[in-house]
Amino acid sequence: MEIKAIRGFNDILPDEVGKWQFVEEVAREVFEGFGFSEIRIPILERTELFSRGIGEATDIVEKEMYTFTDKSGNSLTLRPEATASMARAYLEHQIYSFDPVAKLYCIGPMFRYERPQKGRYRQFYQIDAEVFGVGNPMVDAEVILMLIHFLKRVGLEKLELQINSLGCRDCRPLYRGELKKFLTEKSFQLCEDCQRRLHTNPLRIFDCKVETCKEAIADAPQVINFICNECQGHFNQVKGYLEAAGLGYVLNPRMVRGLDYYTRTAFEVVSYQLGSQNAVTGGGRYDNLFQEIGGLDIPGIGFAIGMERLVSLLPKDKAFVRYPHLFIAAMGEETIKEAYRIINQLHLQGIRVELDYEGKSLKSQMRRADKLKAQYVLILGREELKRGKAILRNMESKLQEEIPISDILNVVREKVKGVEQGNRDC
Ligand SMILES: [Zn+2]
Ligand SMILES: [Zn+2]
Repeated sequence: MEIKAIRGFNDILPDEVGKWQFVEEVAREVFEGFGFSEIRIPILERTELFSRGIGEATDIVEKEMYTFTDKSGNSLTLRPEATASMARAYLEHQIYSFDPVAKLYCIGPMFRYERPQKGRYRQFYQIDAEVFGVGNPMVDAEVILMLIHFLKRVGLEKLELQINSLGCRDCRPLYRGELKKFLTEKSFQLCEDCQRRLHTNPLRIFDCKVETCKEAIADAPQVINFICNECQGHFNQVKGYLEAAGLGYVLNPRMVRGLDYYTRTAFEVVSYQLGSQNAVTGGGRYDNLFQEIGGLDIPGIGFAIGMERLVSLLPKDKAFVRYPHLFIAAMGEETIKEAYRIINQLHLQGIRVELDYEGKSLKSQMRRADKLKAQYVLILGREELKRGKAILRNMESKLQEEIPISDILNVVREKVKGVEQGNRDC
C-alpha cells in the first residue's frame, strides 16, 4: 500500500514554496530592522509549560494539544504556539541578565489537534515576534507598527488595525465577575461548552461560534468599561503613540483574544482585500505569563501570524517561482562536455541553469526550455563550437545573437542581472 501523509499534515510543494520563502525573507528583513533577533526553540516541550502558560481552561489546552507520554513516562506536547517556549528559553538561559529587554522572533511549525478543513492544518506555520522585559506602552505601539509595516511590505492591502484593552490582574477579575453575572441569567441560551466556560473562563464565550451563544453575549458588558486607572492610562498612551506614528486604528471592545495570558493591549489586523473581513493576525500584551510558568515578574508583548492565511492573501500577479535563468541546449558528446563545463561555472556564480542530460533533439530541448520558463537558451552546436561561438536566444523577445564562448560568463551575468533587477521592481 502506498504510504500517504497523515491527515491534517500538508506538503508545501516546490511551486508553492517561493511564496513561503518570500514571506520569511521579508519577515527577517523587517524584524531585524526593528532590532529583533531570531530564536529557534524546540518543537517538543513539557506539557505543563503550555497548560500553565496558556491556561487550563482554553480550547487549546483542553482539546487541541498533541500530547503524549514518552518512554520515560514524561508528558510531552508538540508546541501549539511559540510564546510560552520563547518565554521559557528567555528564563532558562537568563537572557535578561545580559539586557532586560529582549526582542525575539521565531518562524516555524506549530501543532494543534483540530478538525482538519480547507486551509486549516494540524501542522501549521507561524511567524512570532515578542518583546520581553518592557511594560512601557511605547513598545506596544512599536510592535504594532512593525507588524503593519511587515504586512504592507508583503503586499497586503486594505488592512484595518483593531485594538482593545483587556485590563490587568487587578481589574480583570471585576470584569469577569460582571460578565459571569450577566451570562448566568442567560445560561439557558448557552451551548454545553459555554455552560462549562461560564464557570472556568467566561471570557472564552466571546469566541463561541454557536448562534444562541452569540446572541446571549451580544449585549454583554465590555471589558474596556471595567479597567482600572493604570490600565486606562496605559491604553491612552498606546493610542497616542499609534497616532504619533501615523497609524489609524479602530476600537473593538469585543476582542478578548483566545489565550488566557493576555493583559492590557490586545490587537488584531483584518484585511478587506477579498471583500469580506479576514483576520490576518493578532497579538497582545501578557504581563502574567512569566509568573505562570514559574519565572520572574516580566512583562511581554507580541504577535503571531498564521503563514497559511498570509500566503493565501499574497498578490496574485507577483511571480514567486524561481525559473531558470538559462537553459543550455547542447547536441553531441563534445558539446555536452562543453555545456557541463559552462554550467558548473555559471552555477558557482549563482546563475540558475538547466541542461538536457539525455542528449535529445534540439526541438525537444527547446520545448523543455519553454516548459521550464527559462529566460534564455544557449544553443551549443558542433559547428558553432568549432568557431568558439554559441547562440544566445532570449525566450521572450525570440531575438538571437551569436556570442563568443569565452565571453559566456560575462554576457549571461549581465543579462541575468537585468532580469533580477526587473523582478525586484515589480
Ligand atoms: Zn488594570
Ligand atoms: Zn457556546
